[in-house]
Amino acid sequence: MSTGKLIVITGPSGVGKGTIVRSLLASNPRLSLSISATTRKPRPGEIEGRDYYFVDRHKFELMIENDKLLEWAEYAGNYYGTPKDKVEKTITLGKWPLLEIEIVGARAIKQIYPSALRIFILPPSLAELERRLRSRGKDSEEAIIRRLARAEAEISASQEFAHCIINDDLSKTIKKVEEIIFSNAT
Ligand code: 5GP
Repeated sequence: MSTGKLIVITGPSGVGKGTIVRSLLASNPRLSLSISATTRKPRPGEIEGRDYYFVDRHKFELMIENDKLLEWAEYAGNYYGTPKDKVEKTITLGKWPLLEIEIVGARAIKQIYPSALRIFILPPSLAELERRLRSRGKDSEEAIIRRLARAEAEISASQEFAHCIINDDLSKTIKKVEEIIFSNAT
């Protein structure tokens, strides 16, 4: 029986992971998005259960304690984690879980699912990453500074990943990600 694939899209905040993931999901019904839990407050337009499960720190810490999370990390002052149950169910149904997570979580996934397909998305430059983070207008100045401070170390971590793509042209990036995911599809 095929065990399918578990796919991780990682890279610094603002690099375009979300856009890439939305496009992959729209055209590939075999993929199933893992909805993360977070202690971050919802941004305008974000919906509970579609974008995230928004929880408080106490609830998140209980999820850690009760082993409900496949992986989790603290990022820019908030917790983020992947609920185990949905990923396991997706695999049981023969679909491929798609995780959009930061680097600490992507490292942890390698320990749990050594065969996971982990794809690192890089910005063309740090200056371009900063421009994108500012122009999307989603975050406060403080949040942008925290994200940029972390980005440099995250970019150096790309060396740990077998698949790295520089997102300088969105449609080409999506094509390359699809090629990686669907080559040797089982
Ligand atoms: P944002 O606040 O912009 O939605 O997400 C901040 C960062 O957390 C992004 O890099 C995003 O990919 C990452 N992230 C989202 N969900 C998870 C998760 O479940 N686990 C981990 N480790 N990172 C996550």
